[in-house]
Amino acid sequence: MTLKARAMEKVERAGISNYSFDEDVLVMCGVRYTIDVCDCGEADCDGVKLTRHLAAINRNLQ
Ligand SMILES: [Zn+2]
Repeated sequence: MTLKARAMEKVERAGISNYSFDEDVLVMCGVRYTIDVCDCGEADCDGVKLTRHLAAINRNLQ
């Protein structure tokens, strides 16, 4: 399964259906999240790490 597909699963499991993808960036409620592999090793980890896209935050501050 691709990282993108895993991220999609994670989001849908959280009950969020209002999301989209811009290339490899996840967009939820107008906020962009980069998708990374998570290697924390926690038992309940789904292996996906979503990080708030800093560029979007900067843009909002302007
Ligand atoms: Zn993890």
